[in-house]
Amino acid sequence: MVTVGASIADEFKDLLHDYKLSFEIYVEDYRESIEEHLRENLRLAEDDKVGEFNFARYHPYNEIRQYLTDTAGRYSNLATVVTVAHTFEGRPVLALKIGVAKNTPKRAVWIDAGVHAREWIAPATALYFINQLVTRYGHDQTVTDLVEKLDWYIAPVINVDGYIYSWSHPARRLWRKSTSYDNSTCAGENADTTTVRNCTCLGVDLNRNWDVHWGEPIGSSWDPCSGTYHGRSPVSEPEVKGVSDFILQRRGEIQAYLSLHSYGQLWMYPYGYNATKVPKDNKDHVKLSEIATAAIRKVHGKQYQHGRVADILYVATGNSKDWAYEKAGIVHSYAIELRDVWEYGFLLPHDQILPTAQELFPAFIQVGLYVWDGPNYEYIPYPASGAESTGRLLDSTVYQWLLATSLMMRIFI
Ligand SMILES: [Zn+2]
Repeated sequence: MVTVGASIADEFKDLLHDYKLSFEIYVEDYRESIEEHLRENLRLAEDDKVGEFNFARYHPYNEIRQYLTDTAGRYSNLATVVTVAHTFEGRPVLALKIGVAKNTPKRAVWIDAGVHAREWIAPATALYFINQLVTRYGHDQTVTDLVEKLDWYIAPVINVDGYIYSWSHPARRLWRKSTSYDNSTCAGENADTTTVRNCTCLGVDLNRNWDVHWGEPIGSSWDPCSGTYHGRSPVSEPEVKGVSDFILQRRGEIQAYLSLHSYGQLWMYPYGYNATKVPKDNKDHVKLSEIATAAIRKVHGKQYQHGRVADILYVATGNSKDWAYEKAGIVHSYAIELRDVWEYGFLLPHDQILPTAQELFPAFIQVGLYVWDGPNYEYIPYPASGAESTGRLLDSTVYQWLLATSLMMRIFI
């Protein structure tokens, strides 16, 4: 599937005809789809109730930041706001630490989202998880235990600058990278809209900048104008530096690293940089991934495929999950592509926000249980009552087929 600018659409169609390539127009006017998606979000905001955070719509960054501060204030016995980094533009990158304070060191789980700006469902899913942990504490035995026993670090938006940029104009809704730039990286004659400030392209892919197999020939780009530009050097980006320092300072403590992305419905483990290399903990990865994807499926019937990144998606070098596994020694390091498979992609409709967040919630709980118990963990169903499995909607036959054949858009996610 390709997106073609309006100015060259006719020429492109002629070219396809000339080469006798059959094609089908999937969306006639993508800009209109974006604008409708944004209008719908504004309509939903009108129904917001004072003092309540609406988890069924997308939120701009100032509202997310406010939610983190409000939650830490309201649940001060459980939650604190921690600053893990500062962005290129100088904004703080915040995480909520959720856990009952103990005198002895606790094991911890790290969850981040919003690494790629346009993947709005990822921050929404992280925020819902925060809400479930704090509101279920004291009412739900499993959640209470996991908040007592573990610390949860949840950073809903890592790429704060990029996220704000993607909200700033409909033409920027599909922005992926950060907004950093370096005048010395001018890549020649580039006249597209991402070319700014003396021909320097904007942004670094924050999931290609980690100090692990950085800049290897396949899996990222040296071109600042590419969507997968890996930056000037490993860890050149302040967001990546801040998060990696934060995690290394808690080495041994953080025992699971989850990074939320969209889309594709995939639960992925190392490696991303090499398609044939199998990590020594593969058996353990497969076991937890089977448990987590089964937990997801139980909620609304959605199928999430699991596997090694380079095997089921594409080769990606300098990514955070490989770094967490190889450099920070976190055995359970996963990247999760949320809904959907390819129908709406980054413009996931609003009526799928809550269902997506709901289906990931028990999967995160399973990660917590596994971290607590270790490799001998025997699956404990959560929720025990099975109440959340009612009213499930199964994936369409087309989805099942796409999942089975791995035929999804080769767009970077
Ligand atoms: Zn992504």
